[in-house]
Amino acid sequence: MKNRPLLMIPGPIEFDPDVLAALGAPTASHVAPNFIEEFGQALERLREVFLSEDGQPFILAGSGTLAMDSPAANLIEPGDRALAVNTGYFGDRYGDILQRYGAEVTHVRADAIGGRPTLDAVAQALDAADYKLMTITQVDTSTAVLTDVEALAGLAADRGVLVVVDGVCSIAGEELRMSDWGVDVALTASQKAVGVPPGLALFVASQRALEAWRSRTTPVLNYYADWGNWLPIMEAYEARRPSYFGTPPVNLIRALNVSLGQILAEGMGARFARHEQVGRAFQAALAALGLGQVPTDPTIAAHTLTAPTYPEGIGGGDLLPRIKEAGAILAGGLHPEIKQTYFRIGHMGATDQADTLATIAAVEAGLAAAGYAFEPGAGVSAALHVFTGAPQPQA
Ligand SMILES: *Cc1c(COP(=O)(O)O)cnc(C)c1O
Repeated sequence: MKNRPLLMIPGPIEFDPDVLAALGAPTASHVAPNFIEEFGQALERLREVFLSEDGQPFILAGSGTLAMDSPAANLIEPGDRALAVNTGYFGDRYGDILQRYGAEVTHVRADAIGGRPTLDAVAQALDAADYKLMTITQVDTSTAVLTDVEALAGLAADRGVLVVVDGVCSIAGEELRMSDWGVDVALTASQKAVGVPPGLALFVASQRALEAWRSRTTPVLNYYADWGNWLPIMEAYEARRPSYFGTPPVNLIRALNVSLGQILAEGMGARFARHEQVGRAFQAALAALGLGQVPTDPTIAAHTLTAPTYPEGIGGGDLLPRIKEAGAILAGGLHPEIKQTYFRIGHMGATDQADTLATIAAVEAGLAAAGYAFEPGAGVSAALHVFTGAPQPQA
């Protein structure tokens, strides 16, 4: 941290200087040979980061919501049934998107906010009707609840239902193995764990998903997001040929290629392990400080963000500016029903031990300034215990 607080929200996050430098480089033509090479490489790297063997990567100008919208537009035909495994705000949003394209949407929810539906409940829901597609939010950013994508995808695959995973708050942070787990579309956005400023919608579609799209009998009800427009472009760039449908965001794609290179150099296993350790450090710190959290059980808490509840008598309007003053920008609540009761700490991408400890120290300083009684250093110490007591992540 130099002259500004750390940006520790669930996206946008802190970005690597080499990624930011790519954004500031002179903009190439979108058909310049060096850009074609970088776009092609970014597509190949995206497939590796998503741990997909033969999926089709898409890189579009847009936010994470476009990455949700495009698979819905391309896979849903009016009258199709869709099931949303709902763990918060983004599960609701996915339901709205699917409905917009004519799907009949059923939500399976947990008993309480901060919980997740049981596998039995999802299996029963799947058996109750003939679904075409199921959505899963891997980490719902409004609740910090992590779902068991592997098990859920298995339930859907057993029944021939397409699986779409909203991994905007998780991919390149939480473990997600597209091919091994039978995920048909996995999607994210640049500004979260992928580590690139906002502006790119990123997703990979399995061959099964492309097959379902090809066998549609009605047109895709969205022009910009139609895979028919973008698939030839993605194929061309990967084959190192120029192509055009809509101007690609040249600098963002170059920055993406740099970040994906860094992610793969770290290694996916090491990256998942680092996020898990950072997540456990935040969990330990909160417990030591006596703060609750939105997930109803620590075993279902995300490793990419943490959602602590405010202590009795202290509100966000009071606490968050004090934490910022002490060096870390955090986010308020997002889930409409509990918004005023909790805050959110994002710890994706480049977040390391030093950022974690600095953020926890800032939370402690903010709590102290707000008049909360606790043992100073308790949170930092608990987090440090996690870092020193567990094997260090490989570089
Ligand atoms: C941030 C987020 C989105 C939306 O992404 P935008 O880039 O804000 O459109 C969707 N789903 C999840 C889980 C997210 O965290």
